[in-house]
Amino acid sequence: MHPLTLKLNAVSLGTTMLVSLIVLISQACAPKLRNYEHGSITVQTYTYTFINIHYVKVRGKNLLFDTGNAGDAEKIEKHFAKRGLDLNDVDYLIVTHGHADHAGNARYFKEKYGMQVIAGKGETELIASGGDDKNLCPRGFNGWMVKNIFGLRNYEPFQPDILVDGTFDLAEIGLQGKIIEVTSHTPGSIVTFIGDKAFTGDLIGGRILNGDKPTYHAFMCDLEKNMQDIELIAAEPGIKEWYSGHFGPMSIEDVKRFIEKNTN
Ligand SMILES: [Zn+2]
Repeated sequence: MHPLTLKLNAVSLGTTMLVSLIVLISQACAPKLRNYEHGSITVQTYTYTFINIHYVKVRGKNLLFDTGNAGDAEKIEKHFAKRGLDLNDVDYLIVTHGHADHAGNARYFKEKYGMQVIAGKGETELIASGGDDKNLCPRGFNGWMVKNIFGLRNYEPFQPDILVDGTFDLAEIGLQGKIIEVTSHTPGSIVTFIGDKAFTGDLIGGRILNGDKPTYHAFMCDLEKNMQDIELIAAEPGIKEWYSGHFGPMSIEDVKRFIEKNTN
């Protein structure tokens, strides 16, 4: 390679890292709440330190997807209360997986608000360890940065009320749709399908600078297996939007473009 090309590549990599770092640090301190209202489902996404918590109202029931990092519960409670969303009204807490940034306050919410907790059966060990994932595979600069700068705090283990063993019909809790286990990010991550929406946890992420465009998650050990899971979810009929654990939401069209680009 020509020395000039090498130098330019190094400059471009340095600029990307610097921009990512500035965006990450500036966004980390800025809580956001976004509303998505479609038909009979309302999704209100609260984002704090890049972690999405989705408060979903559907057919007279309230669901909460994920809980944020342990220690952030008070901030999360205040934020929802300020916007007229009562955590006492949440019927089911769906923990997409056992990583600390998603399951960190599950025990606290379950005990304080009496939420029924749903999690994947394959996640039992990770939840029992308080989120101590020995098999974490950071990818690239973002993975390194999240692991080494932001870190993953451990949490108080909790006991799920409903364990999803492969698949769970939401009719059992009076809703239409289903939850399935997918194993590429953690052994018992779950994806929930309700109406035209999929709540996908860390199966896929949005890009840092372009949140509604899909990218591989920063922690993924086997990209081939991950792509199989993404293709499986994308084949689900009637799903138009994916709500991820970080950044997003993304349209099914963008997800399909991502699949095409990375499988050809
Ligand atoms: Zn995760």
